[in-house]
Amino acid sequence: MTKYKLEYIWLDGCTPVPNLRGKTQIKEYDHFPTLDQLPLWGFDGSSTMQAEGRSSDCVLKPVSVYQDSARVNGVLVMCEVMMPDGTTPHPSNTRATILDDAGAWFGFEQEYFFYEDGRPLGFPEHGYPAPQGPYYTGVGFKNVGSVARQIVEEHLEACLAAGINHEGINAEVAKGQWEFQIFGKGSKRAADEVWMARYLLLRLTEKYGIDIEFHCKPLGDTDWNGSGMHANFSTTYMREVGGKAYFEALMAAFEANCADHIAVYGPDNHMRLTGKHETQSIHQFSWGVADRGASIRVPHSFVNNNYKGYLEDRRPNSQGDPYAIASQILKTIATVLTK
Ligand code: ADP
Ligand code: MN
Ligand code: MN
Ligand code: MN
Repeated sequence: MTKYKLEYIWLDGCTPVPNLRGKTQIKEYDHFPTLDQLPLWGFDGSSTMQAEGRSSDCVLKPVSVYQDSARVNGVLVMCEVMMPDGTTPHPSNTRATILDDAGAWFGFEQEYFFYEDGRPLGFPEHGYPAPQGPYYTGVGFKNVGSVARQIVEEHLEACLAAGINHEGINAEVAKGQWEFQIFGKGSKRAADEVWMARYLLLRLTEKYGIDIEFHCKPLGDTDWNGSGMHANFSTTYMREVGGKAYFEALMAAFEANCADHIAVYGPDNHMRLTGKHETQSIHQFSWGVADRGASIRVPHSFVNNNYKGYLEDRRPNSQGDPYAIASQILKTIATVLTK
C-alpha cells in the first residue's frame, strides 16, 4: 500500500467570481486511485461563503482526478460542493446542472496577467513600459522579462503531467500578459481542466511571489489589452453536417440570446468589450470571417469546408466560469433545428 496525498479542490461561494480552495488528506491505496475510490469529504462552509456558522458542514464530491507532479504520490481531485445530505448540489455548484454532450468540443484560450507589487510583471513602479507591439509572441528580456517564461513552462509541464489537455501557450499583447489553451470533449471535461489549470498556475506562482490577475481589464480604460477566454466550440452536427443555412440560423440564435451569453461571460465585461483592442462592443452582436473585431470569429477553414467545423466566441472573459460558458453555448445551439 502507498500513502497518497489527495488534494481536494473546489470552488467557493464568492460572487461574482468563485475562488479555488483546496485541502489535503492522506489515504492508502495499492495503486493510483480511480474516481470511484475517492470518498466524499467535508469542509467548513462558513469560511467559504457557502454556509452559516451554526450549520457549517458542506460536502465535497470528487468528479475528476489528475496526477499531481508537484508532490510525491500526489493526486489532484476536482470536487463539486454538495449540501450536507451529500446528494443535493449546493447553490454555488454551477457544474451540477450544466448541459453536457460528449460530442461538443471546447477550446478555451485563457488569458491572464502576471502581477507583482500590484502591477503587471515588468511594469515600472511609475508610468508604463514601451507601448504594446513587441510583446505578443515576443522573445527577449526586454519583452518578456526573466521569469515569466520559466513559470509558463513549469505550468505547461504540470498540466501535461496531470493529464490536462493543454494545447499551447503564447505571450500576449500587453506586457506581463500570457495565454494558454485547453481543449476538451464535453463541457464538464473541458471546464474541469480549465479550472484545474487555473489552480496549478495559482499554486505554482506562490513560490515566485507573483500573483495571477484574471480580471478582464486590470489596466482599465488605457491602451492596454484586456484578458479574454475565447471559447472555440463545435458540435458533432457542426463538424459533420453544418452548411450555410444552419450556420446562419445558429448566428441568429446567438444574436437573439445575446444577453443570456453576456450574463455568464464574466464580470466587468463592459470594460473589455469596447470595440477596441480586438473586441466587439458589448452592445452589439456580429460575426465575421477571420474578424477579430467580431463577437464570433468564423475561421477561414470553416467557410472553405462548406460551413463545417468550429466557431470562436470571442466574448467570454478571463474570469468567466467555463462551466456556465459552455452550458450557455449548448443551450443556444439546442434552440436551432437540425435536419
Ligand atoms: P487564436 O489565438 O488564433 O484565436 P488558438 O490557437 O489560441 O487560436 O486557439 C484555438 C482553439 O481552438 C484551440 O484551443 C483549439 O483546441 C480549439 N479548437 C480547434 N478545433 C476545434 C474544434 N473542432 N472544436 C472546438 N475547439 C477547437
Ligand atoms: Mn489564442
Ligand atoms: Mn489571445
Ligand atoms: Mn482566440
